[in-house]
Amino acid sequence: MSRRRVHHAKIKSIQWLPGDICLLRFQPDSVIHFEPGQFLSLRVPDRDDPENLLWRAYSLSVPPEMAKAEGYEFCIKKMPGGHAAAYLEKLAVGDTLTLRAAYGDFTLRTKAGRGVCMIGTGTGIAPLRSIALSREFAKADLLFGIAIVGFRSYAEVPFAGDFERVGLATTYAISAHATKLSFPFYNGRVMDVLKRLKPDFPWLETDYYLCGSGAMINDVIRYLKSAHGVKDSAIFAEAFEPASSNPSKAA
Ligand SMILES: Cc1cc2nc3c(=O)[nH]c(=O)nc-3n(C[C@H](O)[C@H](O)[C@H](O)COP(=O)(O)OP(=O)(O)OC[C@H]3O[C@@H](n4cnc5c(N)ncnc54)[C@H](O)[C@@H]3O)c2cc1C
Repeated sequence: MSRRRVHHAKIKSIQWLPGDICLLRFQPDSVIHFEPGQFLSLRVPDRDDPENLLWRAYSLSVPPEMAKAEGYEFCIKKMPGGHAAAYLEKLAVGDTLTLRAAYGDFTLRTKAGRGVCMIGTGTGIAPLRSIALSREFAKADLLFGIAIVGFRSYAEVPFAGDFERVGLATTYAISAHATKLSFPFYNGRVMDVLKRLKPDFPWLETDYYLCGSGAMINDVIRYLKSAHGVKDSAIFAEAFEPASSNPSKAA
């Protein structure tokens, strides 16, 4: 990953949600230019050797116009034993973050007249939300839009209602809920919801935006291609893989 401009930012608020998910809001010392769906690199001290500095990728969960008006925001899942996780636990309002910006090509590419299907699991909904709430998305003249978002439990859902309010028909796939849920909630995984879309769903007139674990993304891509003949050019994906599995993303 190429080096970008370094920014410093003050933490405005830290909100912990169920499932060890943190909404971290911050205000940089100068405007960070980014496209909806892009990520920043956050400087994080090594848990065992704080002199050693690491970099971790986090997607912005807001579009640029919201970031400027209300503050920039990350939606971060605390990974057990992680370096960023340990750093996150110690952060307080008013602390300064060091960031590099902006990276990534997980941005809106859909042409007017086509549909959009967003699929995100866990904090993978962050860049999808940034795209969905953006000015570009509102102006995109799409045929239709749907969102399928997946969480372990009902309580872990952040940003409930945000996709619906910009016109995306949204289903919440909840994988670990004991009792039967009713629409828009569904007992199962995002893949189960995808497989239950109506037979006349316009598979080939739709662009797919996938974000979350590499395993989920691979399963969905395999299904879209083998069951419905979706072309690679209609699939856009961002895997939230650990930095250690792809050293180039760590710097
Ligand atoms: C482009 C990109 C954008 C990202 N955006 C976000 C985001 O918006 N929100 C967010 O929460 N995360 C995001 N991530 C993941 C994030 O960069 C870190 O990998 C994650 O926060 C763990 O960092 P850590 O230092 O706490 O864990 P590490 O110290 O790197 O690892 C600790 C343990 O957790 C495992 N682990 C680490 N990361 C993951 C992972 N992503 N999935 C499964 N196991 C993991 C490791 O294998 C290890 O066992 C993104 C990743 C990429 C590549």
